[in-house]
Amino acid sequence: MSEETIFSKIIRKEIPANIVYEDDQCLAFRDINPQAPTHILVIPKKNIPMLGDAAPEDKELLGHLLLTVKDIAKQVGLENGYRVVINTGSDGGQTVFHLHLHLLGDRQMQWPPG
Ligand code: 5GP
Repeated sequence: MSEETIFSKIIRKEIPANIVYEDDQCLAFRDINPQAPTHILVIPKKNIPMLGDAAPEDKELLGHLLLTVKDIAKQVGLENGYRVVINTGSDGGQTVFHLHLHLLGDRQMQWPPG
């Protein structure tokens, strides 16, 4: 059993979040500390701590998360492009250990990332 994070409480609506999309498998909400004018987190309802913990059985869920990010990007009008980020583990800069995809947009992104 994985330990719960604050994201589990957001999924259960125990703490508030600015939710932009929800279905039976995932939830999307605005990041509390945005790094771009548009910064949305897309998370699975299943508690997978990080990408490295995903299993073959999660293949469909992972695909669903990516397709959901694409749909939300369109929904919020990121027609000039956007960046999708998955920070993984401490070297990857992950701070909340519940898998999440960052959708960042409405500014020019730089490369390489920091
Ligand atoms: P990580 O650093 O793990 O890739 O990203 C975690 C993200 O979650 C950060 O961008 C952080 O601002 C966001 N975050 C942490 N706690 C909360 C919260 O309680 N509500 C919301 N909306 N975002 C949060």
